[in-house]
Amino acid sequence: MNNKLFSCFECGFPVAMLALDGRTIEYHPGYEVPIPVDFEMPTCTNCRKPYIDEELAKRLDPVLKKAFLRQQAAHFCKLVEWLKQKHNVTQIDIVRACGITPSHLSHILAGKRRASLTLSRLLEAFVKDEREFRRHVDGLPWRDILVFPPRHGKSALVSWSTGKPKLEQKWDQEQSDHTSLNINTSQDVA
Ligand SMILES: [Zn+2]
Repeated sequence: MNNKLFSCFECGFPVAMLALDGRTIEYHPGYEVPIPVDFEMPTCTNCRKPYIDEELAKRLDPVLKKAFLRQQAAHFCKLVEWLKQKHNVTQIDIVRACGITPSHLSHILAGKRRASLTLSRLLEAFVKDEREFRRHVDGLPWRDILVFPPRHGKSALVSWSTGKPKLEQKWDQEQSDHTSLNINTSQDVA
C-alpha cells in the first residue's frame, strides 16, 4: 500500500489515512463519542485502531465536543428527571443538594457546558443512593452510615460516632425527627 504511514503497534498491518464508519472515541470518562464518517485520520487497515496526535486532536475536538455535550445533556436530563419524579423535588432542590448554581445545571442540561467528573458521579450516586440524596434535600446531619460487608451478607447501619450497628427502624425514626417531611425509606435497604 503506497499511502502507508507506519505499521500498527497492535497488529503490524499498515496504518493509512482512512475515513471509516463506526469509529468511536472515549472523549470524557464514560462518554463514547462517534467520530464523523468522513473524517480522515491515521487508522490501521486491519484492526481499525486510530492513531491520534496532538495536531489531529485539536482538529477533532470541536467536532467531538458537540456530540459529547449532547450525550452528557441527555444523561444529566435522565438523572435529574429521575430524582425529580422519585422524590417529588424541584430542580432547585437538586442544585442545592449538589452544591452548584442553578445556571450551571441549566447550561449542562442545555448541552452548553461540560460538567466535572465529580458532579457527574455525585448525581449518579444520588440516583443510586436515595437515602443520601434525601439527607441533603432535607438538610439532615452526617451521623449514621449504611455499610456493606466486603462479601455476602446483609448491609447494616452503623453509628458514625460509635461504629456500632443500629436498628433500621430506630435510624428512620431519628431522621424523621429532624424534618416535617415524610421520608419513605422502606425500600432503600436490600
Ligand atoms: Zn492494527
